[in-house]
Amino acid sequence: MNRNKREKEYYSIDVGDSTFMVLKRYQNLRPIGSGAQGIVCSAYDHNFERNVAIKKLSRPFQNQTHSKRAYRELVLMKCVNHKNIIGLLNVFTPQKTLEEFQDVYLVMELMDANLCQVIQMELDHERLSYLLYQMLCGIKHLHAAGIIHRDLKPSNIVVKSDCTLKILDFGLARTAATGLLMTPYVVTRYYRAPEVILGMGYQANVDVWSVGCIMAEMVRGSVLFPGTDHIDQWNKVIEQLGTPSQEFLMKLNQSVRTYVENRPRYAGYSFEKLFPDVLFPADSEHNKLKASQARDLLCKMLVIDASKRISVDEALQHPYINVWYDPTEVEAPPPAITDKQLDEREHTVEEWKELIYKEVLDLEERTKNGVIRGPPASIGAAVSSTTPPPPPPSTTSPPCPPTRP
Ligand code: AMP
Repeated sequence: MNRNKREKEYYSIDVGDSTFMVLKRYQNLRPIGSGAQGIVCSAYDHNFERNVAIKKLSRPFQNQTHSKRAYRELVLMKCVNHKNIIGLLNVFTPQKTLEEFQDVYLVMELMDANLCQVIQMELDHERLSYLLYQMLCGIKHLHAAGIIHRDLKPSNIVVKSDCTLKILDFGLARTAATGLLMTPYVVTRYYRAPEVILGMGYQANVDVWSVGCIMAEMVRGSVLFPGTDHIDQWNKVIEQLGTPSQEFLMKLNQSVRTYVENRPRYAGYSFEKLFPDVLFPADSEHNKLKASQARDLLCKMLVIDASKRISVDEALQHPYINVWYDPTEVEAPPPAITDKQLDEREHTVEEWKELIYKEVLDLEERTKNGVIRGPPASIGAAVSSTTPPPPPPSTTSPPCPPTRP
């Protein structure tokens, strides 16, 4: 495409401290969130006559961390297709050549709020269990593709007012270093499992811990393990759950074990104390039963020793959750990940720039041919609204689930 034609397709608009240079089909941009990679806006897509979310990745190739994350996300978003994982509708860059390449824009389905906002609401058992069920379905699907998240948190989970839920990202690459002895940098660690905090080996149920922390926060209305840094994170866990057994300590490497053994010893609290009845709606016999099931699920997910923690499959079969069980959602065929070395890649900034640029061009091309995954072409007819993006979600009206099966 010639330069003039391409330039005419885009316009520039200031949102907050950032400038978005987007295709003219996207109008009415409003900031709705920001994360480690940049700002996210809602917008109205005139081509498909629907509201969308647009995330700007500014110079995603600027260093190893940004590059790896952006590339991994582009590749995985292209492969994964599940109703509980955010779908990619379009990808573009306004720059015309590799030399000029700067920014990537990801166009996604627009959701109403992230889970941080929902946690503030009073949720009944139906809503709570339905949200948890969907988290577990999304996680199971990622696991089936060989993707273990390890960094699930409420800010990376979004919901709609009909109580549908989607996970926004793919977590930490296998090669991402974590652990007590790492240099601290500012990230939310409240939801990270003991095996991640302590830099141990991990398995798929590492993500069950995070779901447990999120569930606990939804029940309590406050963060369960609010560590101020990576060391304090561990203190908060043992203060509440108790010092783990000798059997667990033997699985730690020497330097971490020495540290952990030298902490004061804590007996911890029972789950009845940690999550008393008053935290749950227990006004009827049905709700009393649900409250005890919810507490039982919490105590099976929040187990320090991963070998004694329930698996994602077991959580999906738990009485609190399995009322929603639908094989088409739980057992959807796993996606094939095309780049087998995705997590091992190490490149220079220039190489990353080229790899990411190529991936963006491929995705731009697929969008033109309508091959990129996401809603089918009939979306324009199905969603015929011409209304502007919705206002920020109200924090007083909880999302509404479908009727319980
Ligand atoms: P991220 O940069 O992906 O971490 O997203 C940062 C924040 O932007 C999230 O916590 C959400 O509040 C919001 N957000 C991101 N993507 C979407 C989306 N598709 N729909 C609605 N809000 C979103």
